[in-house]
Amino acid sequence: MAIWNAFILRKKKLPNIDNYDFRMNLVERILEKFHVTTPRSAKQQKLQNDCPLRLTGRHFPDLVPSTSSKKNASRKCIVCSKAKVRREIRYQCNECDAGLCVQSCFRKYLTADNL
Ligand SMILES: [Zn+2]
Ligand SMILES: [Zn+2]
Repeated sequence: MAIWNAFILRKKKLPNIDNYDFRMNLVERILEKFHVTTPRSAKQQKLQNDCPLRLTGRHFPDLVPSTSSKKNASRKCIVCSKAKVRREIRYQCNECDAGLCVQSCFRKYLTADNL
């Protein structure tokens, strides 16, 4: 609200100023004032790279969507297939786009550092 009020006041003086430009300007000034460094530190970057999506994202088991030809669609479990076990299951993680056995492999896939 304070930003908006400031914008209205400023717009009266400078009718052509664009809302977005104004906000960016304001943000830049705030950052300058508080000496916030915008580039992420090397440590943070490393942390990001070390955590693949499967360890950081939001994962829920979903039914493999059925197609017109396959009513009860299934797919291979990614964890089982890595262990050279062929297992067709009906659940997948949409986030990872990977088939996973709900009871065992789902947890394993989302928590194990190495698979
Ligand atoms: Zn499995
Ligand atoms: Zn997932």
